[in-house]
Amino acid sequence: MKIKSAEFVVSNSKVEQCPNSSLPEYAFIGRSNVGKSSLINMLTGRKSLAKTSAKPGKTQLINHFLINSNWHLVDLPGYGYAQVSKSTKKVFQKFITAYFEQRKQLVCAFVLIDSRHQPQAIDMEFMQWLGENTIPFCIIFTKTDKLKLKELEKNIENYKAEMLKTWEEMPEFFITSAAKNTGGEAILDYIENINKQLNKN
Ligand code: GDP
Repeated sequence: MKIKSAEFVVSNSKVEQCPNSSLPEYAFIGRSNVGKSSLINMLTGRKSLAKTSAKPGKTQLINHFLINSNWHLVDLPGYGYAQVSKSTKKVFQKFITAYFEQRKQLVCAFVLIDSRHQPQAIDMEFMQWLGENTIPFCIIFTKTDKLKLKELEKNIENYKAEMLKTWEEMPEFFITSAAKNTGGEAILDYIENINKQLNKN
């Protein structure tokens, strides 16, 4: 897919206020600093469509971008566990779970994972939560330029092994580097194929 246009639409803190539109949407999410803004800028070919390296703790917003006038790219804030009083149960921030539970237009979530790290509990738990809520998702490994090829292969194998402890199969995954501008086309083609299928129905 070629990106012909990419426009900011709106930022919200509530799913109820997200655009009233029937366009398919694809959400990008991960822990803060995973490289999400850089990836979105790479995908859209815009230097600063998503803001890179904003300070942690900034207002957490659901950002909608209109791509090629026919789908929405949604930039979600970094996830973390919400503080729940009188309980040690870990839950994700409410407006993030509300987005996934309520947003009918959502076609697929892209969960970003820093390729340098060992599997982290919070990412695993978030994907588990998506699975339990039957929300389709893919994994995007980021910052792969920071690793030697052998290390990258080892980390991906390791990740797969960890995923296969809970999942029957490894979800679709993509290997990217915003610094080297690699891996974006495969993601855009994946989205384009789904959009084509949706248009046929
Ligand atoms: P976000 O908080 O998830 O939106 O992450 P950012 O896109 O702001 O990136 C966090 C930091 O990682 C910044 O210093 C980026 O320059 C750096 N970064 C992001 N993507 C890459 C990448 O592909 N390669 C390298 N080497 N650094 C990256």
